[in-house]
Amino acid sequence: MRLEGWGRFPRYDARVSAPRSEKDIRDHLAAGTVIARGNGRAYGDSAINTGNTLSMRHFNRMLAFDPETGQLTVEAGVLLADVIKAFLPRGRFPSVTPGTKFVTIGGMIAADVHGKNHHKHGSFGSFVDWIDVLGADGEIERCSRNERLDLFEWTVGGMGLTGVILRAAFRLRPVATGWIKQNMIPAPDLDAAMEAFEKAQDATYSVAWIDCLSTGSALGRSLVMLGEHAELIDLPADKRSAPYTIPNKRKRSVPFDVPSFALNSMTVRAFNALYYRNGARNAGDSLVDWDSYFYPLDAILGWNRIYGRKGFAQFQCALPLNSSKAGLQELLRATSKAGQGFLGVLKRFGAQDSRFSFPMEGYTLTLDFPINRKTLALMDQLDRITIEHGGRFYLAKDSRMTAETLRQSDSRTQKFVQMRDASGSRTRFASEQSKRLEL
Ligand SMILES: Cc1cc2nc3c(=O)[nH]c(=O)nc-3n(C[C@H](O)[C@H](O)[C@H](O)COP(=O)(O)OP(=O)(O)OC[C@H]3O[C@@H](n4cnc5c(N)ncnc54)[C@H](O)[C@@H]3O)c2cc1C
Repeated sequence: MRLEGWGRFPRYDARVSAPRSEKDIRDHLAAGTVIARGNGRAYGDSAINTGNTLSMRHFNRMLAFDPETGQLTVEAGVLLADVIKAFLPRGRFPSVTPGTKFVTIGGMIAADVHGKNHHKHGSFGSFVDWIDVLGADGEIERCSRNERLDLFEWTVGGMGLTGVILRAAFRLRPVATGWIKQNMIPAPDLDAAMEAFEKAQDATYSVAWIDCLSTGSALGRSLVMLGEHAELIDLPADKRSAPYTIPNKRKRSVPFDVPSFALNSMTVRAFNALYYRNGARNAGDSLVDWDSYFYPLDAILGWNRIYGRKGFAQFQCALPLNSSKAGLQELLRATSKAGQGFLGVLKRFGAQDSRFSFPMEGYTLTLDFPINRKTLALMDQLDRITIEHGGRFYLAKDSRMTAETLRQSDSRTQKFVQMRDASGSRTRFASEQSKRLEL
């Protein structure tokens, strides 16, 4: 079948299997190279193997929950949305969540996803207690911080290339309500945005919408959004009797591919100016429900169609703290000069020491680009700027970088490949991304 990631680029004709048991997975493995696929929310080709892509959708049972510790044990194909649906009414919420709830737990571990609280709590892997991995030899190994540490550390952030994650246990955090106290801080330029992040190190959540097309003294103007889980006392009286219930929202959807001329630098600049002004008007504190706060884009089904038929790519880099400002300025100047780019997101990362996960202490910038000749050339330029400033790229978003770019940006790559050779996983697990990147 036709298979693509969330960015709808690149597209492949691929064989897709949907195993129902461990034996099924072993049979597929014996017949050739495979890659596991969760819910296909990675942007590029990391969950596609044209020869055999293993959809994990049948591994969708929740297995155990410990109300004392908040530890939840699930099969890897369970959706985060279903975890929230089942456990928020019991006062538990994911300890780390990406910007969409339509991801599987297997996909969250394989990409070691980060959320708006990375500066404070690290990535999803910090809350994973153990993982069952079906490896190259068809054996299932339980790995954790106490057993098979090497397999555990390579699997968290290993993009499915160490084996198939079957089950995992991870901790949910206690929350008193389903609401977030949000504080919106308008930042007229990049300096002000970074200052707001640095001052907000104690905030549980922080993230910024950044205008990637503003120039001159407004370069990098942003709306920085801080958040805390609301306590019962923070809710208006009428909401206290059902603190986890939020208003039902009507889902909207994008019914067709938006023509590519609709998103040009003029329309985007106008939209960004309006969005910033509107945000600045609403500066200060407000109470926001969990769905709107963490997953604003999930409210528009199929929003990936607004970039047109050719699809889009998301550029996401992380820059070390000491070169973040210079790197971000250069990336933003190049983007606004080219007049390309749509949604921009800026986030402060905390320190993280891991084998192959993406985050590093510093800043991460995310920019969306419709696919065309100009934006592909621009993204190559952004790659070079990132490398010059000691940064690296997020494999869950990548759909186009070269093997050389990866090696120049991430010195851990060679060790990852050595581990793959030594464990035999290189001949058993491969995605179109791992082939492109020679992983
Ligand atoms: C709107 C949107 C917002 C996002 N925001 C963020 C964000 O804030 N932070 C962030 O970190 N990410 C973010 N992402 C990226 C997303 O969280 C990751 O790509 C995640 O891996 C997707 O999970 P999935 O289940 O869809 O996995 P897929 O896209 O299907 O697969 C992703 C990778 O995981 C591997 N994988 C999946 N299941 C298994 C398994 N059972 N065993 C072994 N490997 C497996 C695949 O092989 C592949 O390499 C966002 C994506 C979208 C679309």
